[in-house]
Amino acid sequence: MAEDLAAQGIEPAVATEPADVVVINTCTVTREATKASRMAIRRAVKTNPEAKIVVIGCYAVSNPDEIKAIDGVDVVLGNDEKEQFVEALGQAAPVRPLLQIRTAKRRRAPYRVRANLKVQTGCDERCTFCIIPKTRGPLRSLDEDALIDEARAKVAAGTRELVLTGVHLGKYRYDRGGDERDLLRLFERLMAIEGLWRVRLSSILSRHLTEEVVSFIASEPRMCRYLHVPLQSGDDGVLRGMHRPYDIAEYLDSVRRAPRSIEGLALATDIIVGFPGETEDAFEATMNVVRELRYAKLHVFRYSMRPDTAAARMSAEVAADVKRDRSKRLIALGNEIRARFLEDHVGRPLEVLVEDERVVDGVSICSGQTGDYVRVWFEGESLLGSLVSVQGQRVRADGLEGRRTSMVGR
Ligand code: SF4
Repeated sequence: MAEDLAAQGIEPAVATEPADVVVINTCTVTREATKASRMAIRRAVKTNPEAKIVVIGCYAVSNPDEIKAIDGVDVVLGNDEKEQFVEALGQAAPVRPLLQIRTAKRRRAPYRVRANLKVQTGCDERCTFCIIPKTRGPLRSLDEDALIDEARAKVAAGTRELVLTGVHLGKYRYDRGGDERDLLRLFERLMAIEGLWRVRLSSILSRHLTEEVVSFIASEPRMCRYLHVPLQSGDDGVLRGMHRPYDIAEYLDSVRRAPRSIEGLALATDIIVGFPGETEDAFEATMNVVRELRYAKLHVFRYSMRPDTAAARMSAEVAADVKRDRSKRLIALGNEIRARFLEDHVGRPLEVLVEDERVVDGVSICSGQTGDYVRVWFEGESLLGSLVSVQGQRVRADGLEGRRTSMVGR
């Protein structure tokens, strides 16, 4: 959406400036997320009294009337309208003149070193805690040729890393009668784009980490050594209650294989603690999976009942203090593993794609990500968009400081 607006000459406002349009991309994945979305809308209305307030995202789909009732909201849009965001916004009467004026002023392609390439939307699973199939609809894959055109345009504008996004990347084109070869073909076609240095997968289900996918990543250095494979729980009973499309044996079988084949691979995952019926033993089983697979990054969510989901009707709720305690223990374990993971990078040469450059206390500081998704800061100038080799020197809050050693590509 930001890129779409930027292409129309609409520039992002900074926090200290009044904005003409505020877009709130809402989430409703948990009750807390819904609450946070409502607060974000109210805050936007309060701090930008003159702005057009536009609300989009899953909460806008699940409860549009609730949002329209909030004083100060001008436009509520659905998820599908993200694709043609400017058109959708332009058709909403209150912002039309603004878009027309700005469109006439300037039109330029946005520039981002790392950009998303949305290959698919929606989901056809039925996880009992999740509202996504309702808010984003069934699985829909985007046309392959159109994606390659979009990728080429982004690379021509300066993008060097593309992040393939979608709820079910492994099922790319399944909705069009395809199979796992479609994702591999998409990878191959992306690899043929000159100037594209990295492709990253946003997340992939364990069962789609097939031998073919793993060996493609292993043999292609431009595929990032970072895989986010949602676990949610390490216990079969809980996974069944969640209606996840795998059991723990299948998950472990696929995920154990990946680091053995892909050198330097970092794993990441999502875990829900305190799902209805989660016993202490079930939680311990989750901790054991984390200890074994040593995820470089853990995203821990405390289960909160989401109305309109099957899990909302389940009894055997886990008490709030138990949930809090389990989440604390899991986060602590995740932090301990992450600290070791970061320390392992100290003293090593790291390839960093520079995404940001700013002057801090008179010194030009660059920062960017490694292929295994570690943010690295180092001194350097005029390196935005370059791939540089940096010696990791010191761990800092969720990243590393380093020293630039050589240029890999620009
Ligand atoms: S796989 Fe499950 S959790 Fe993920 S979006 Fe689909 S229904 Fe939701």
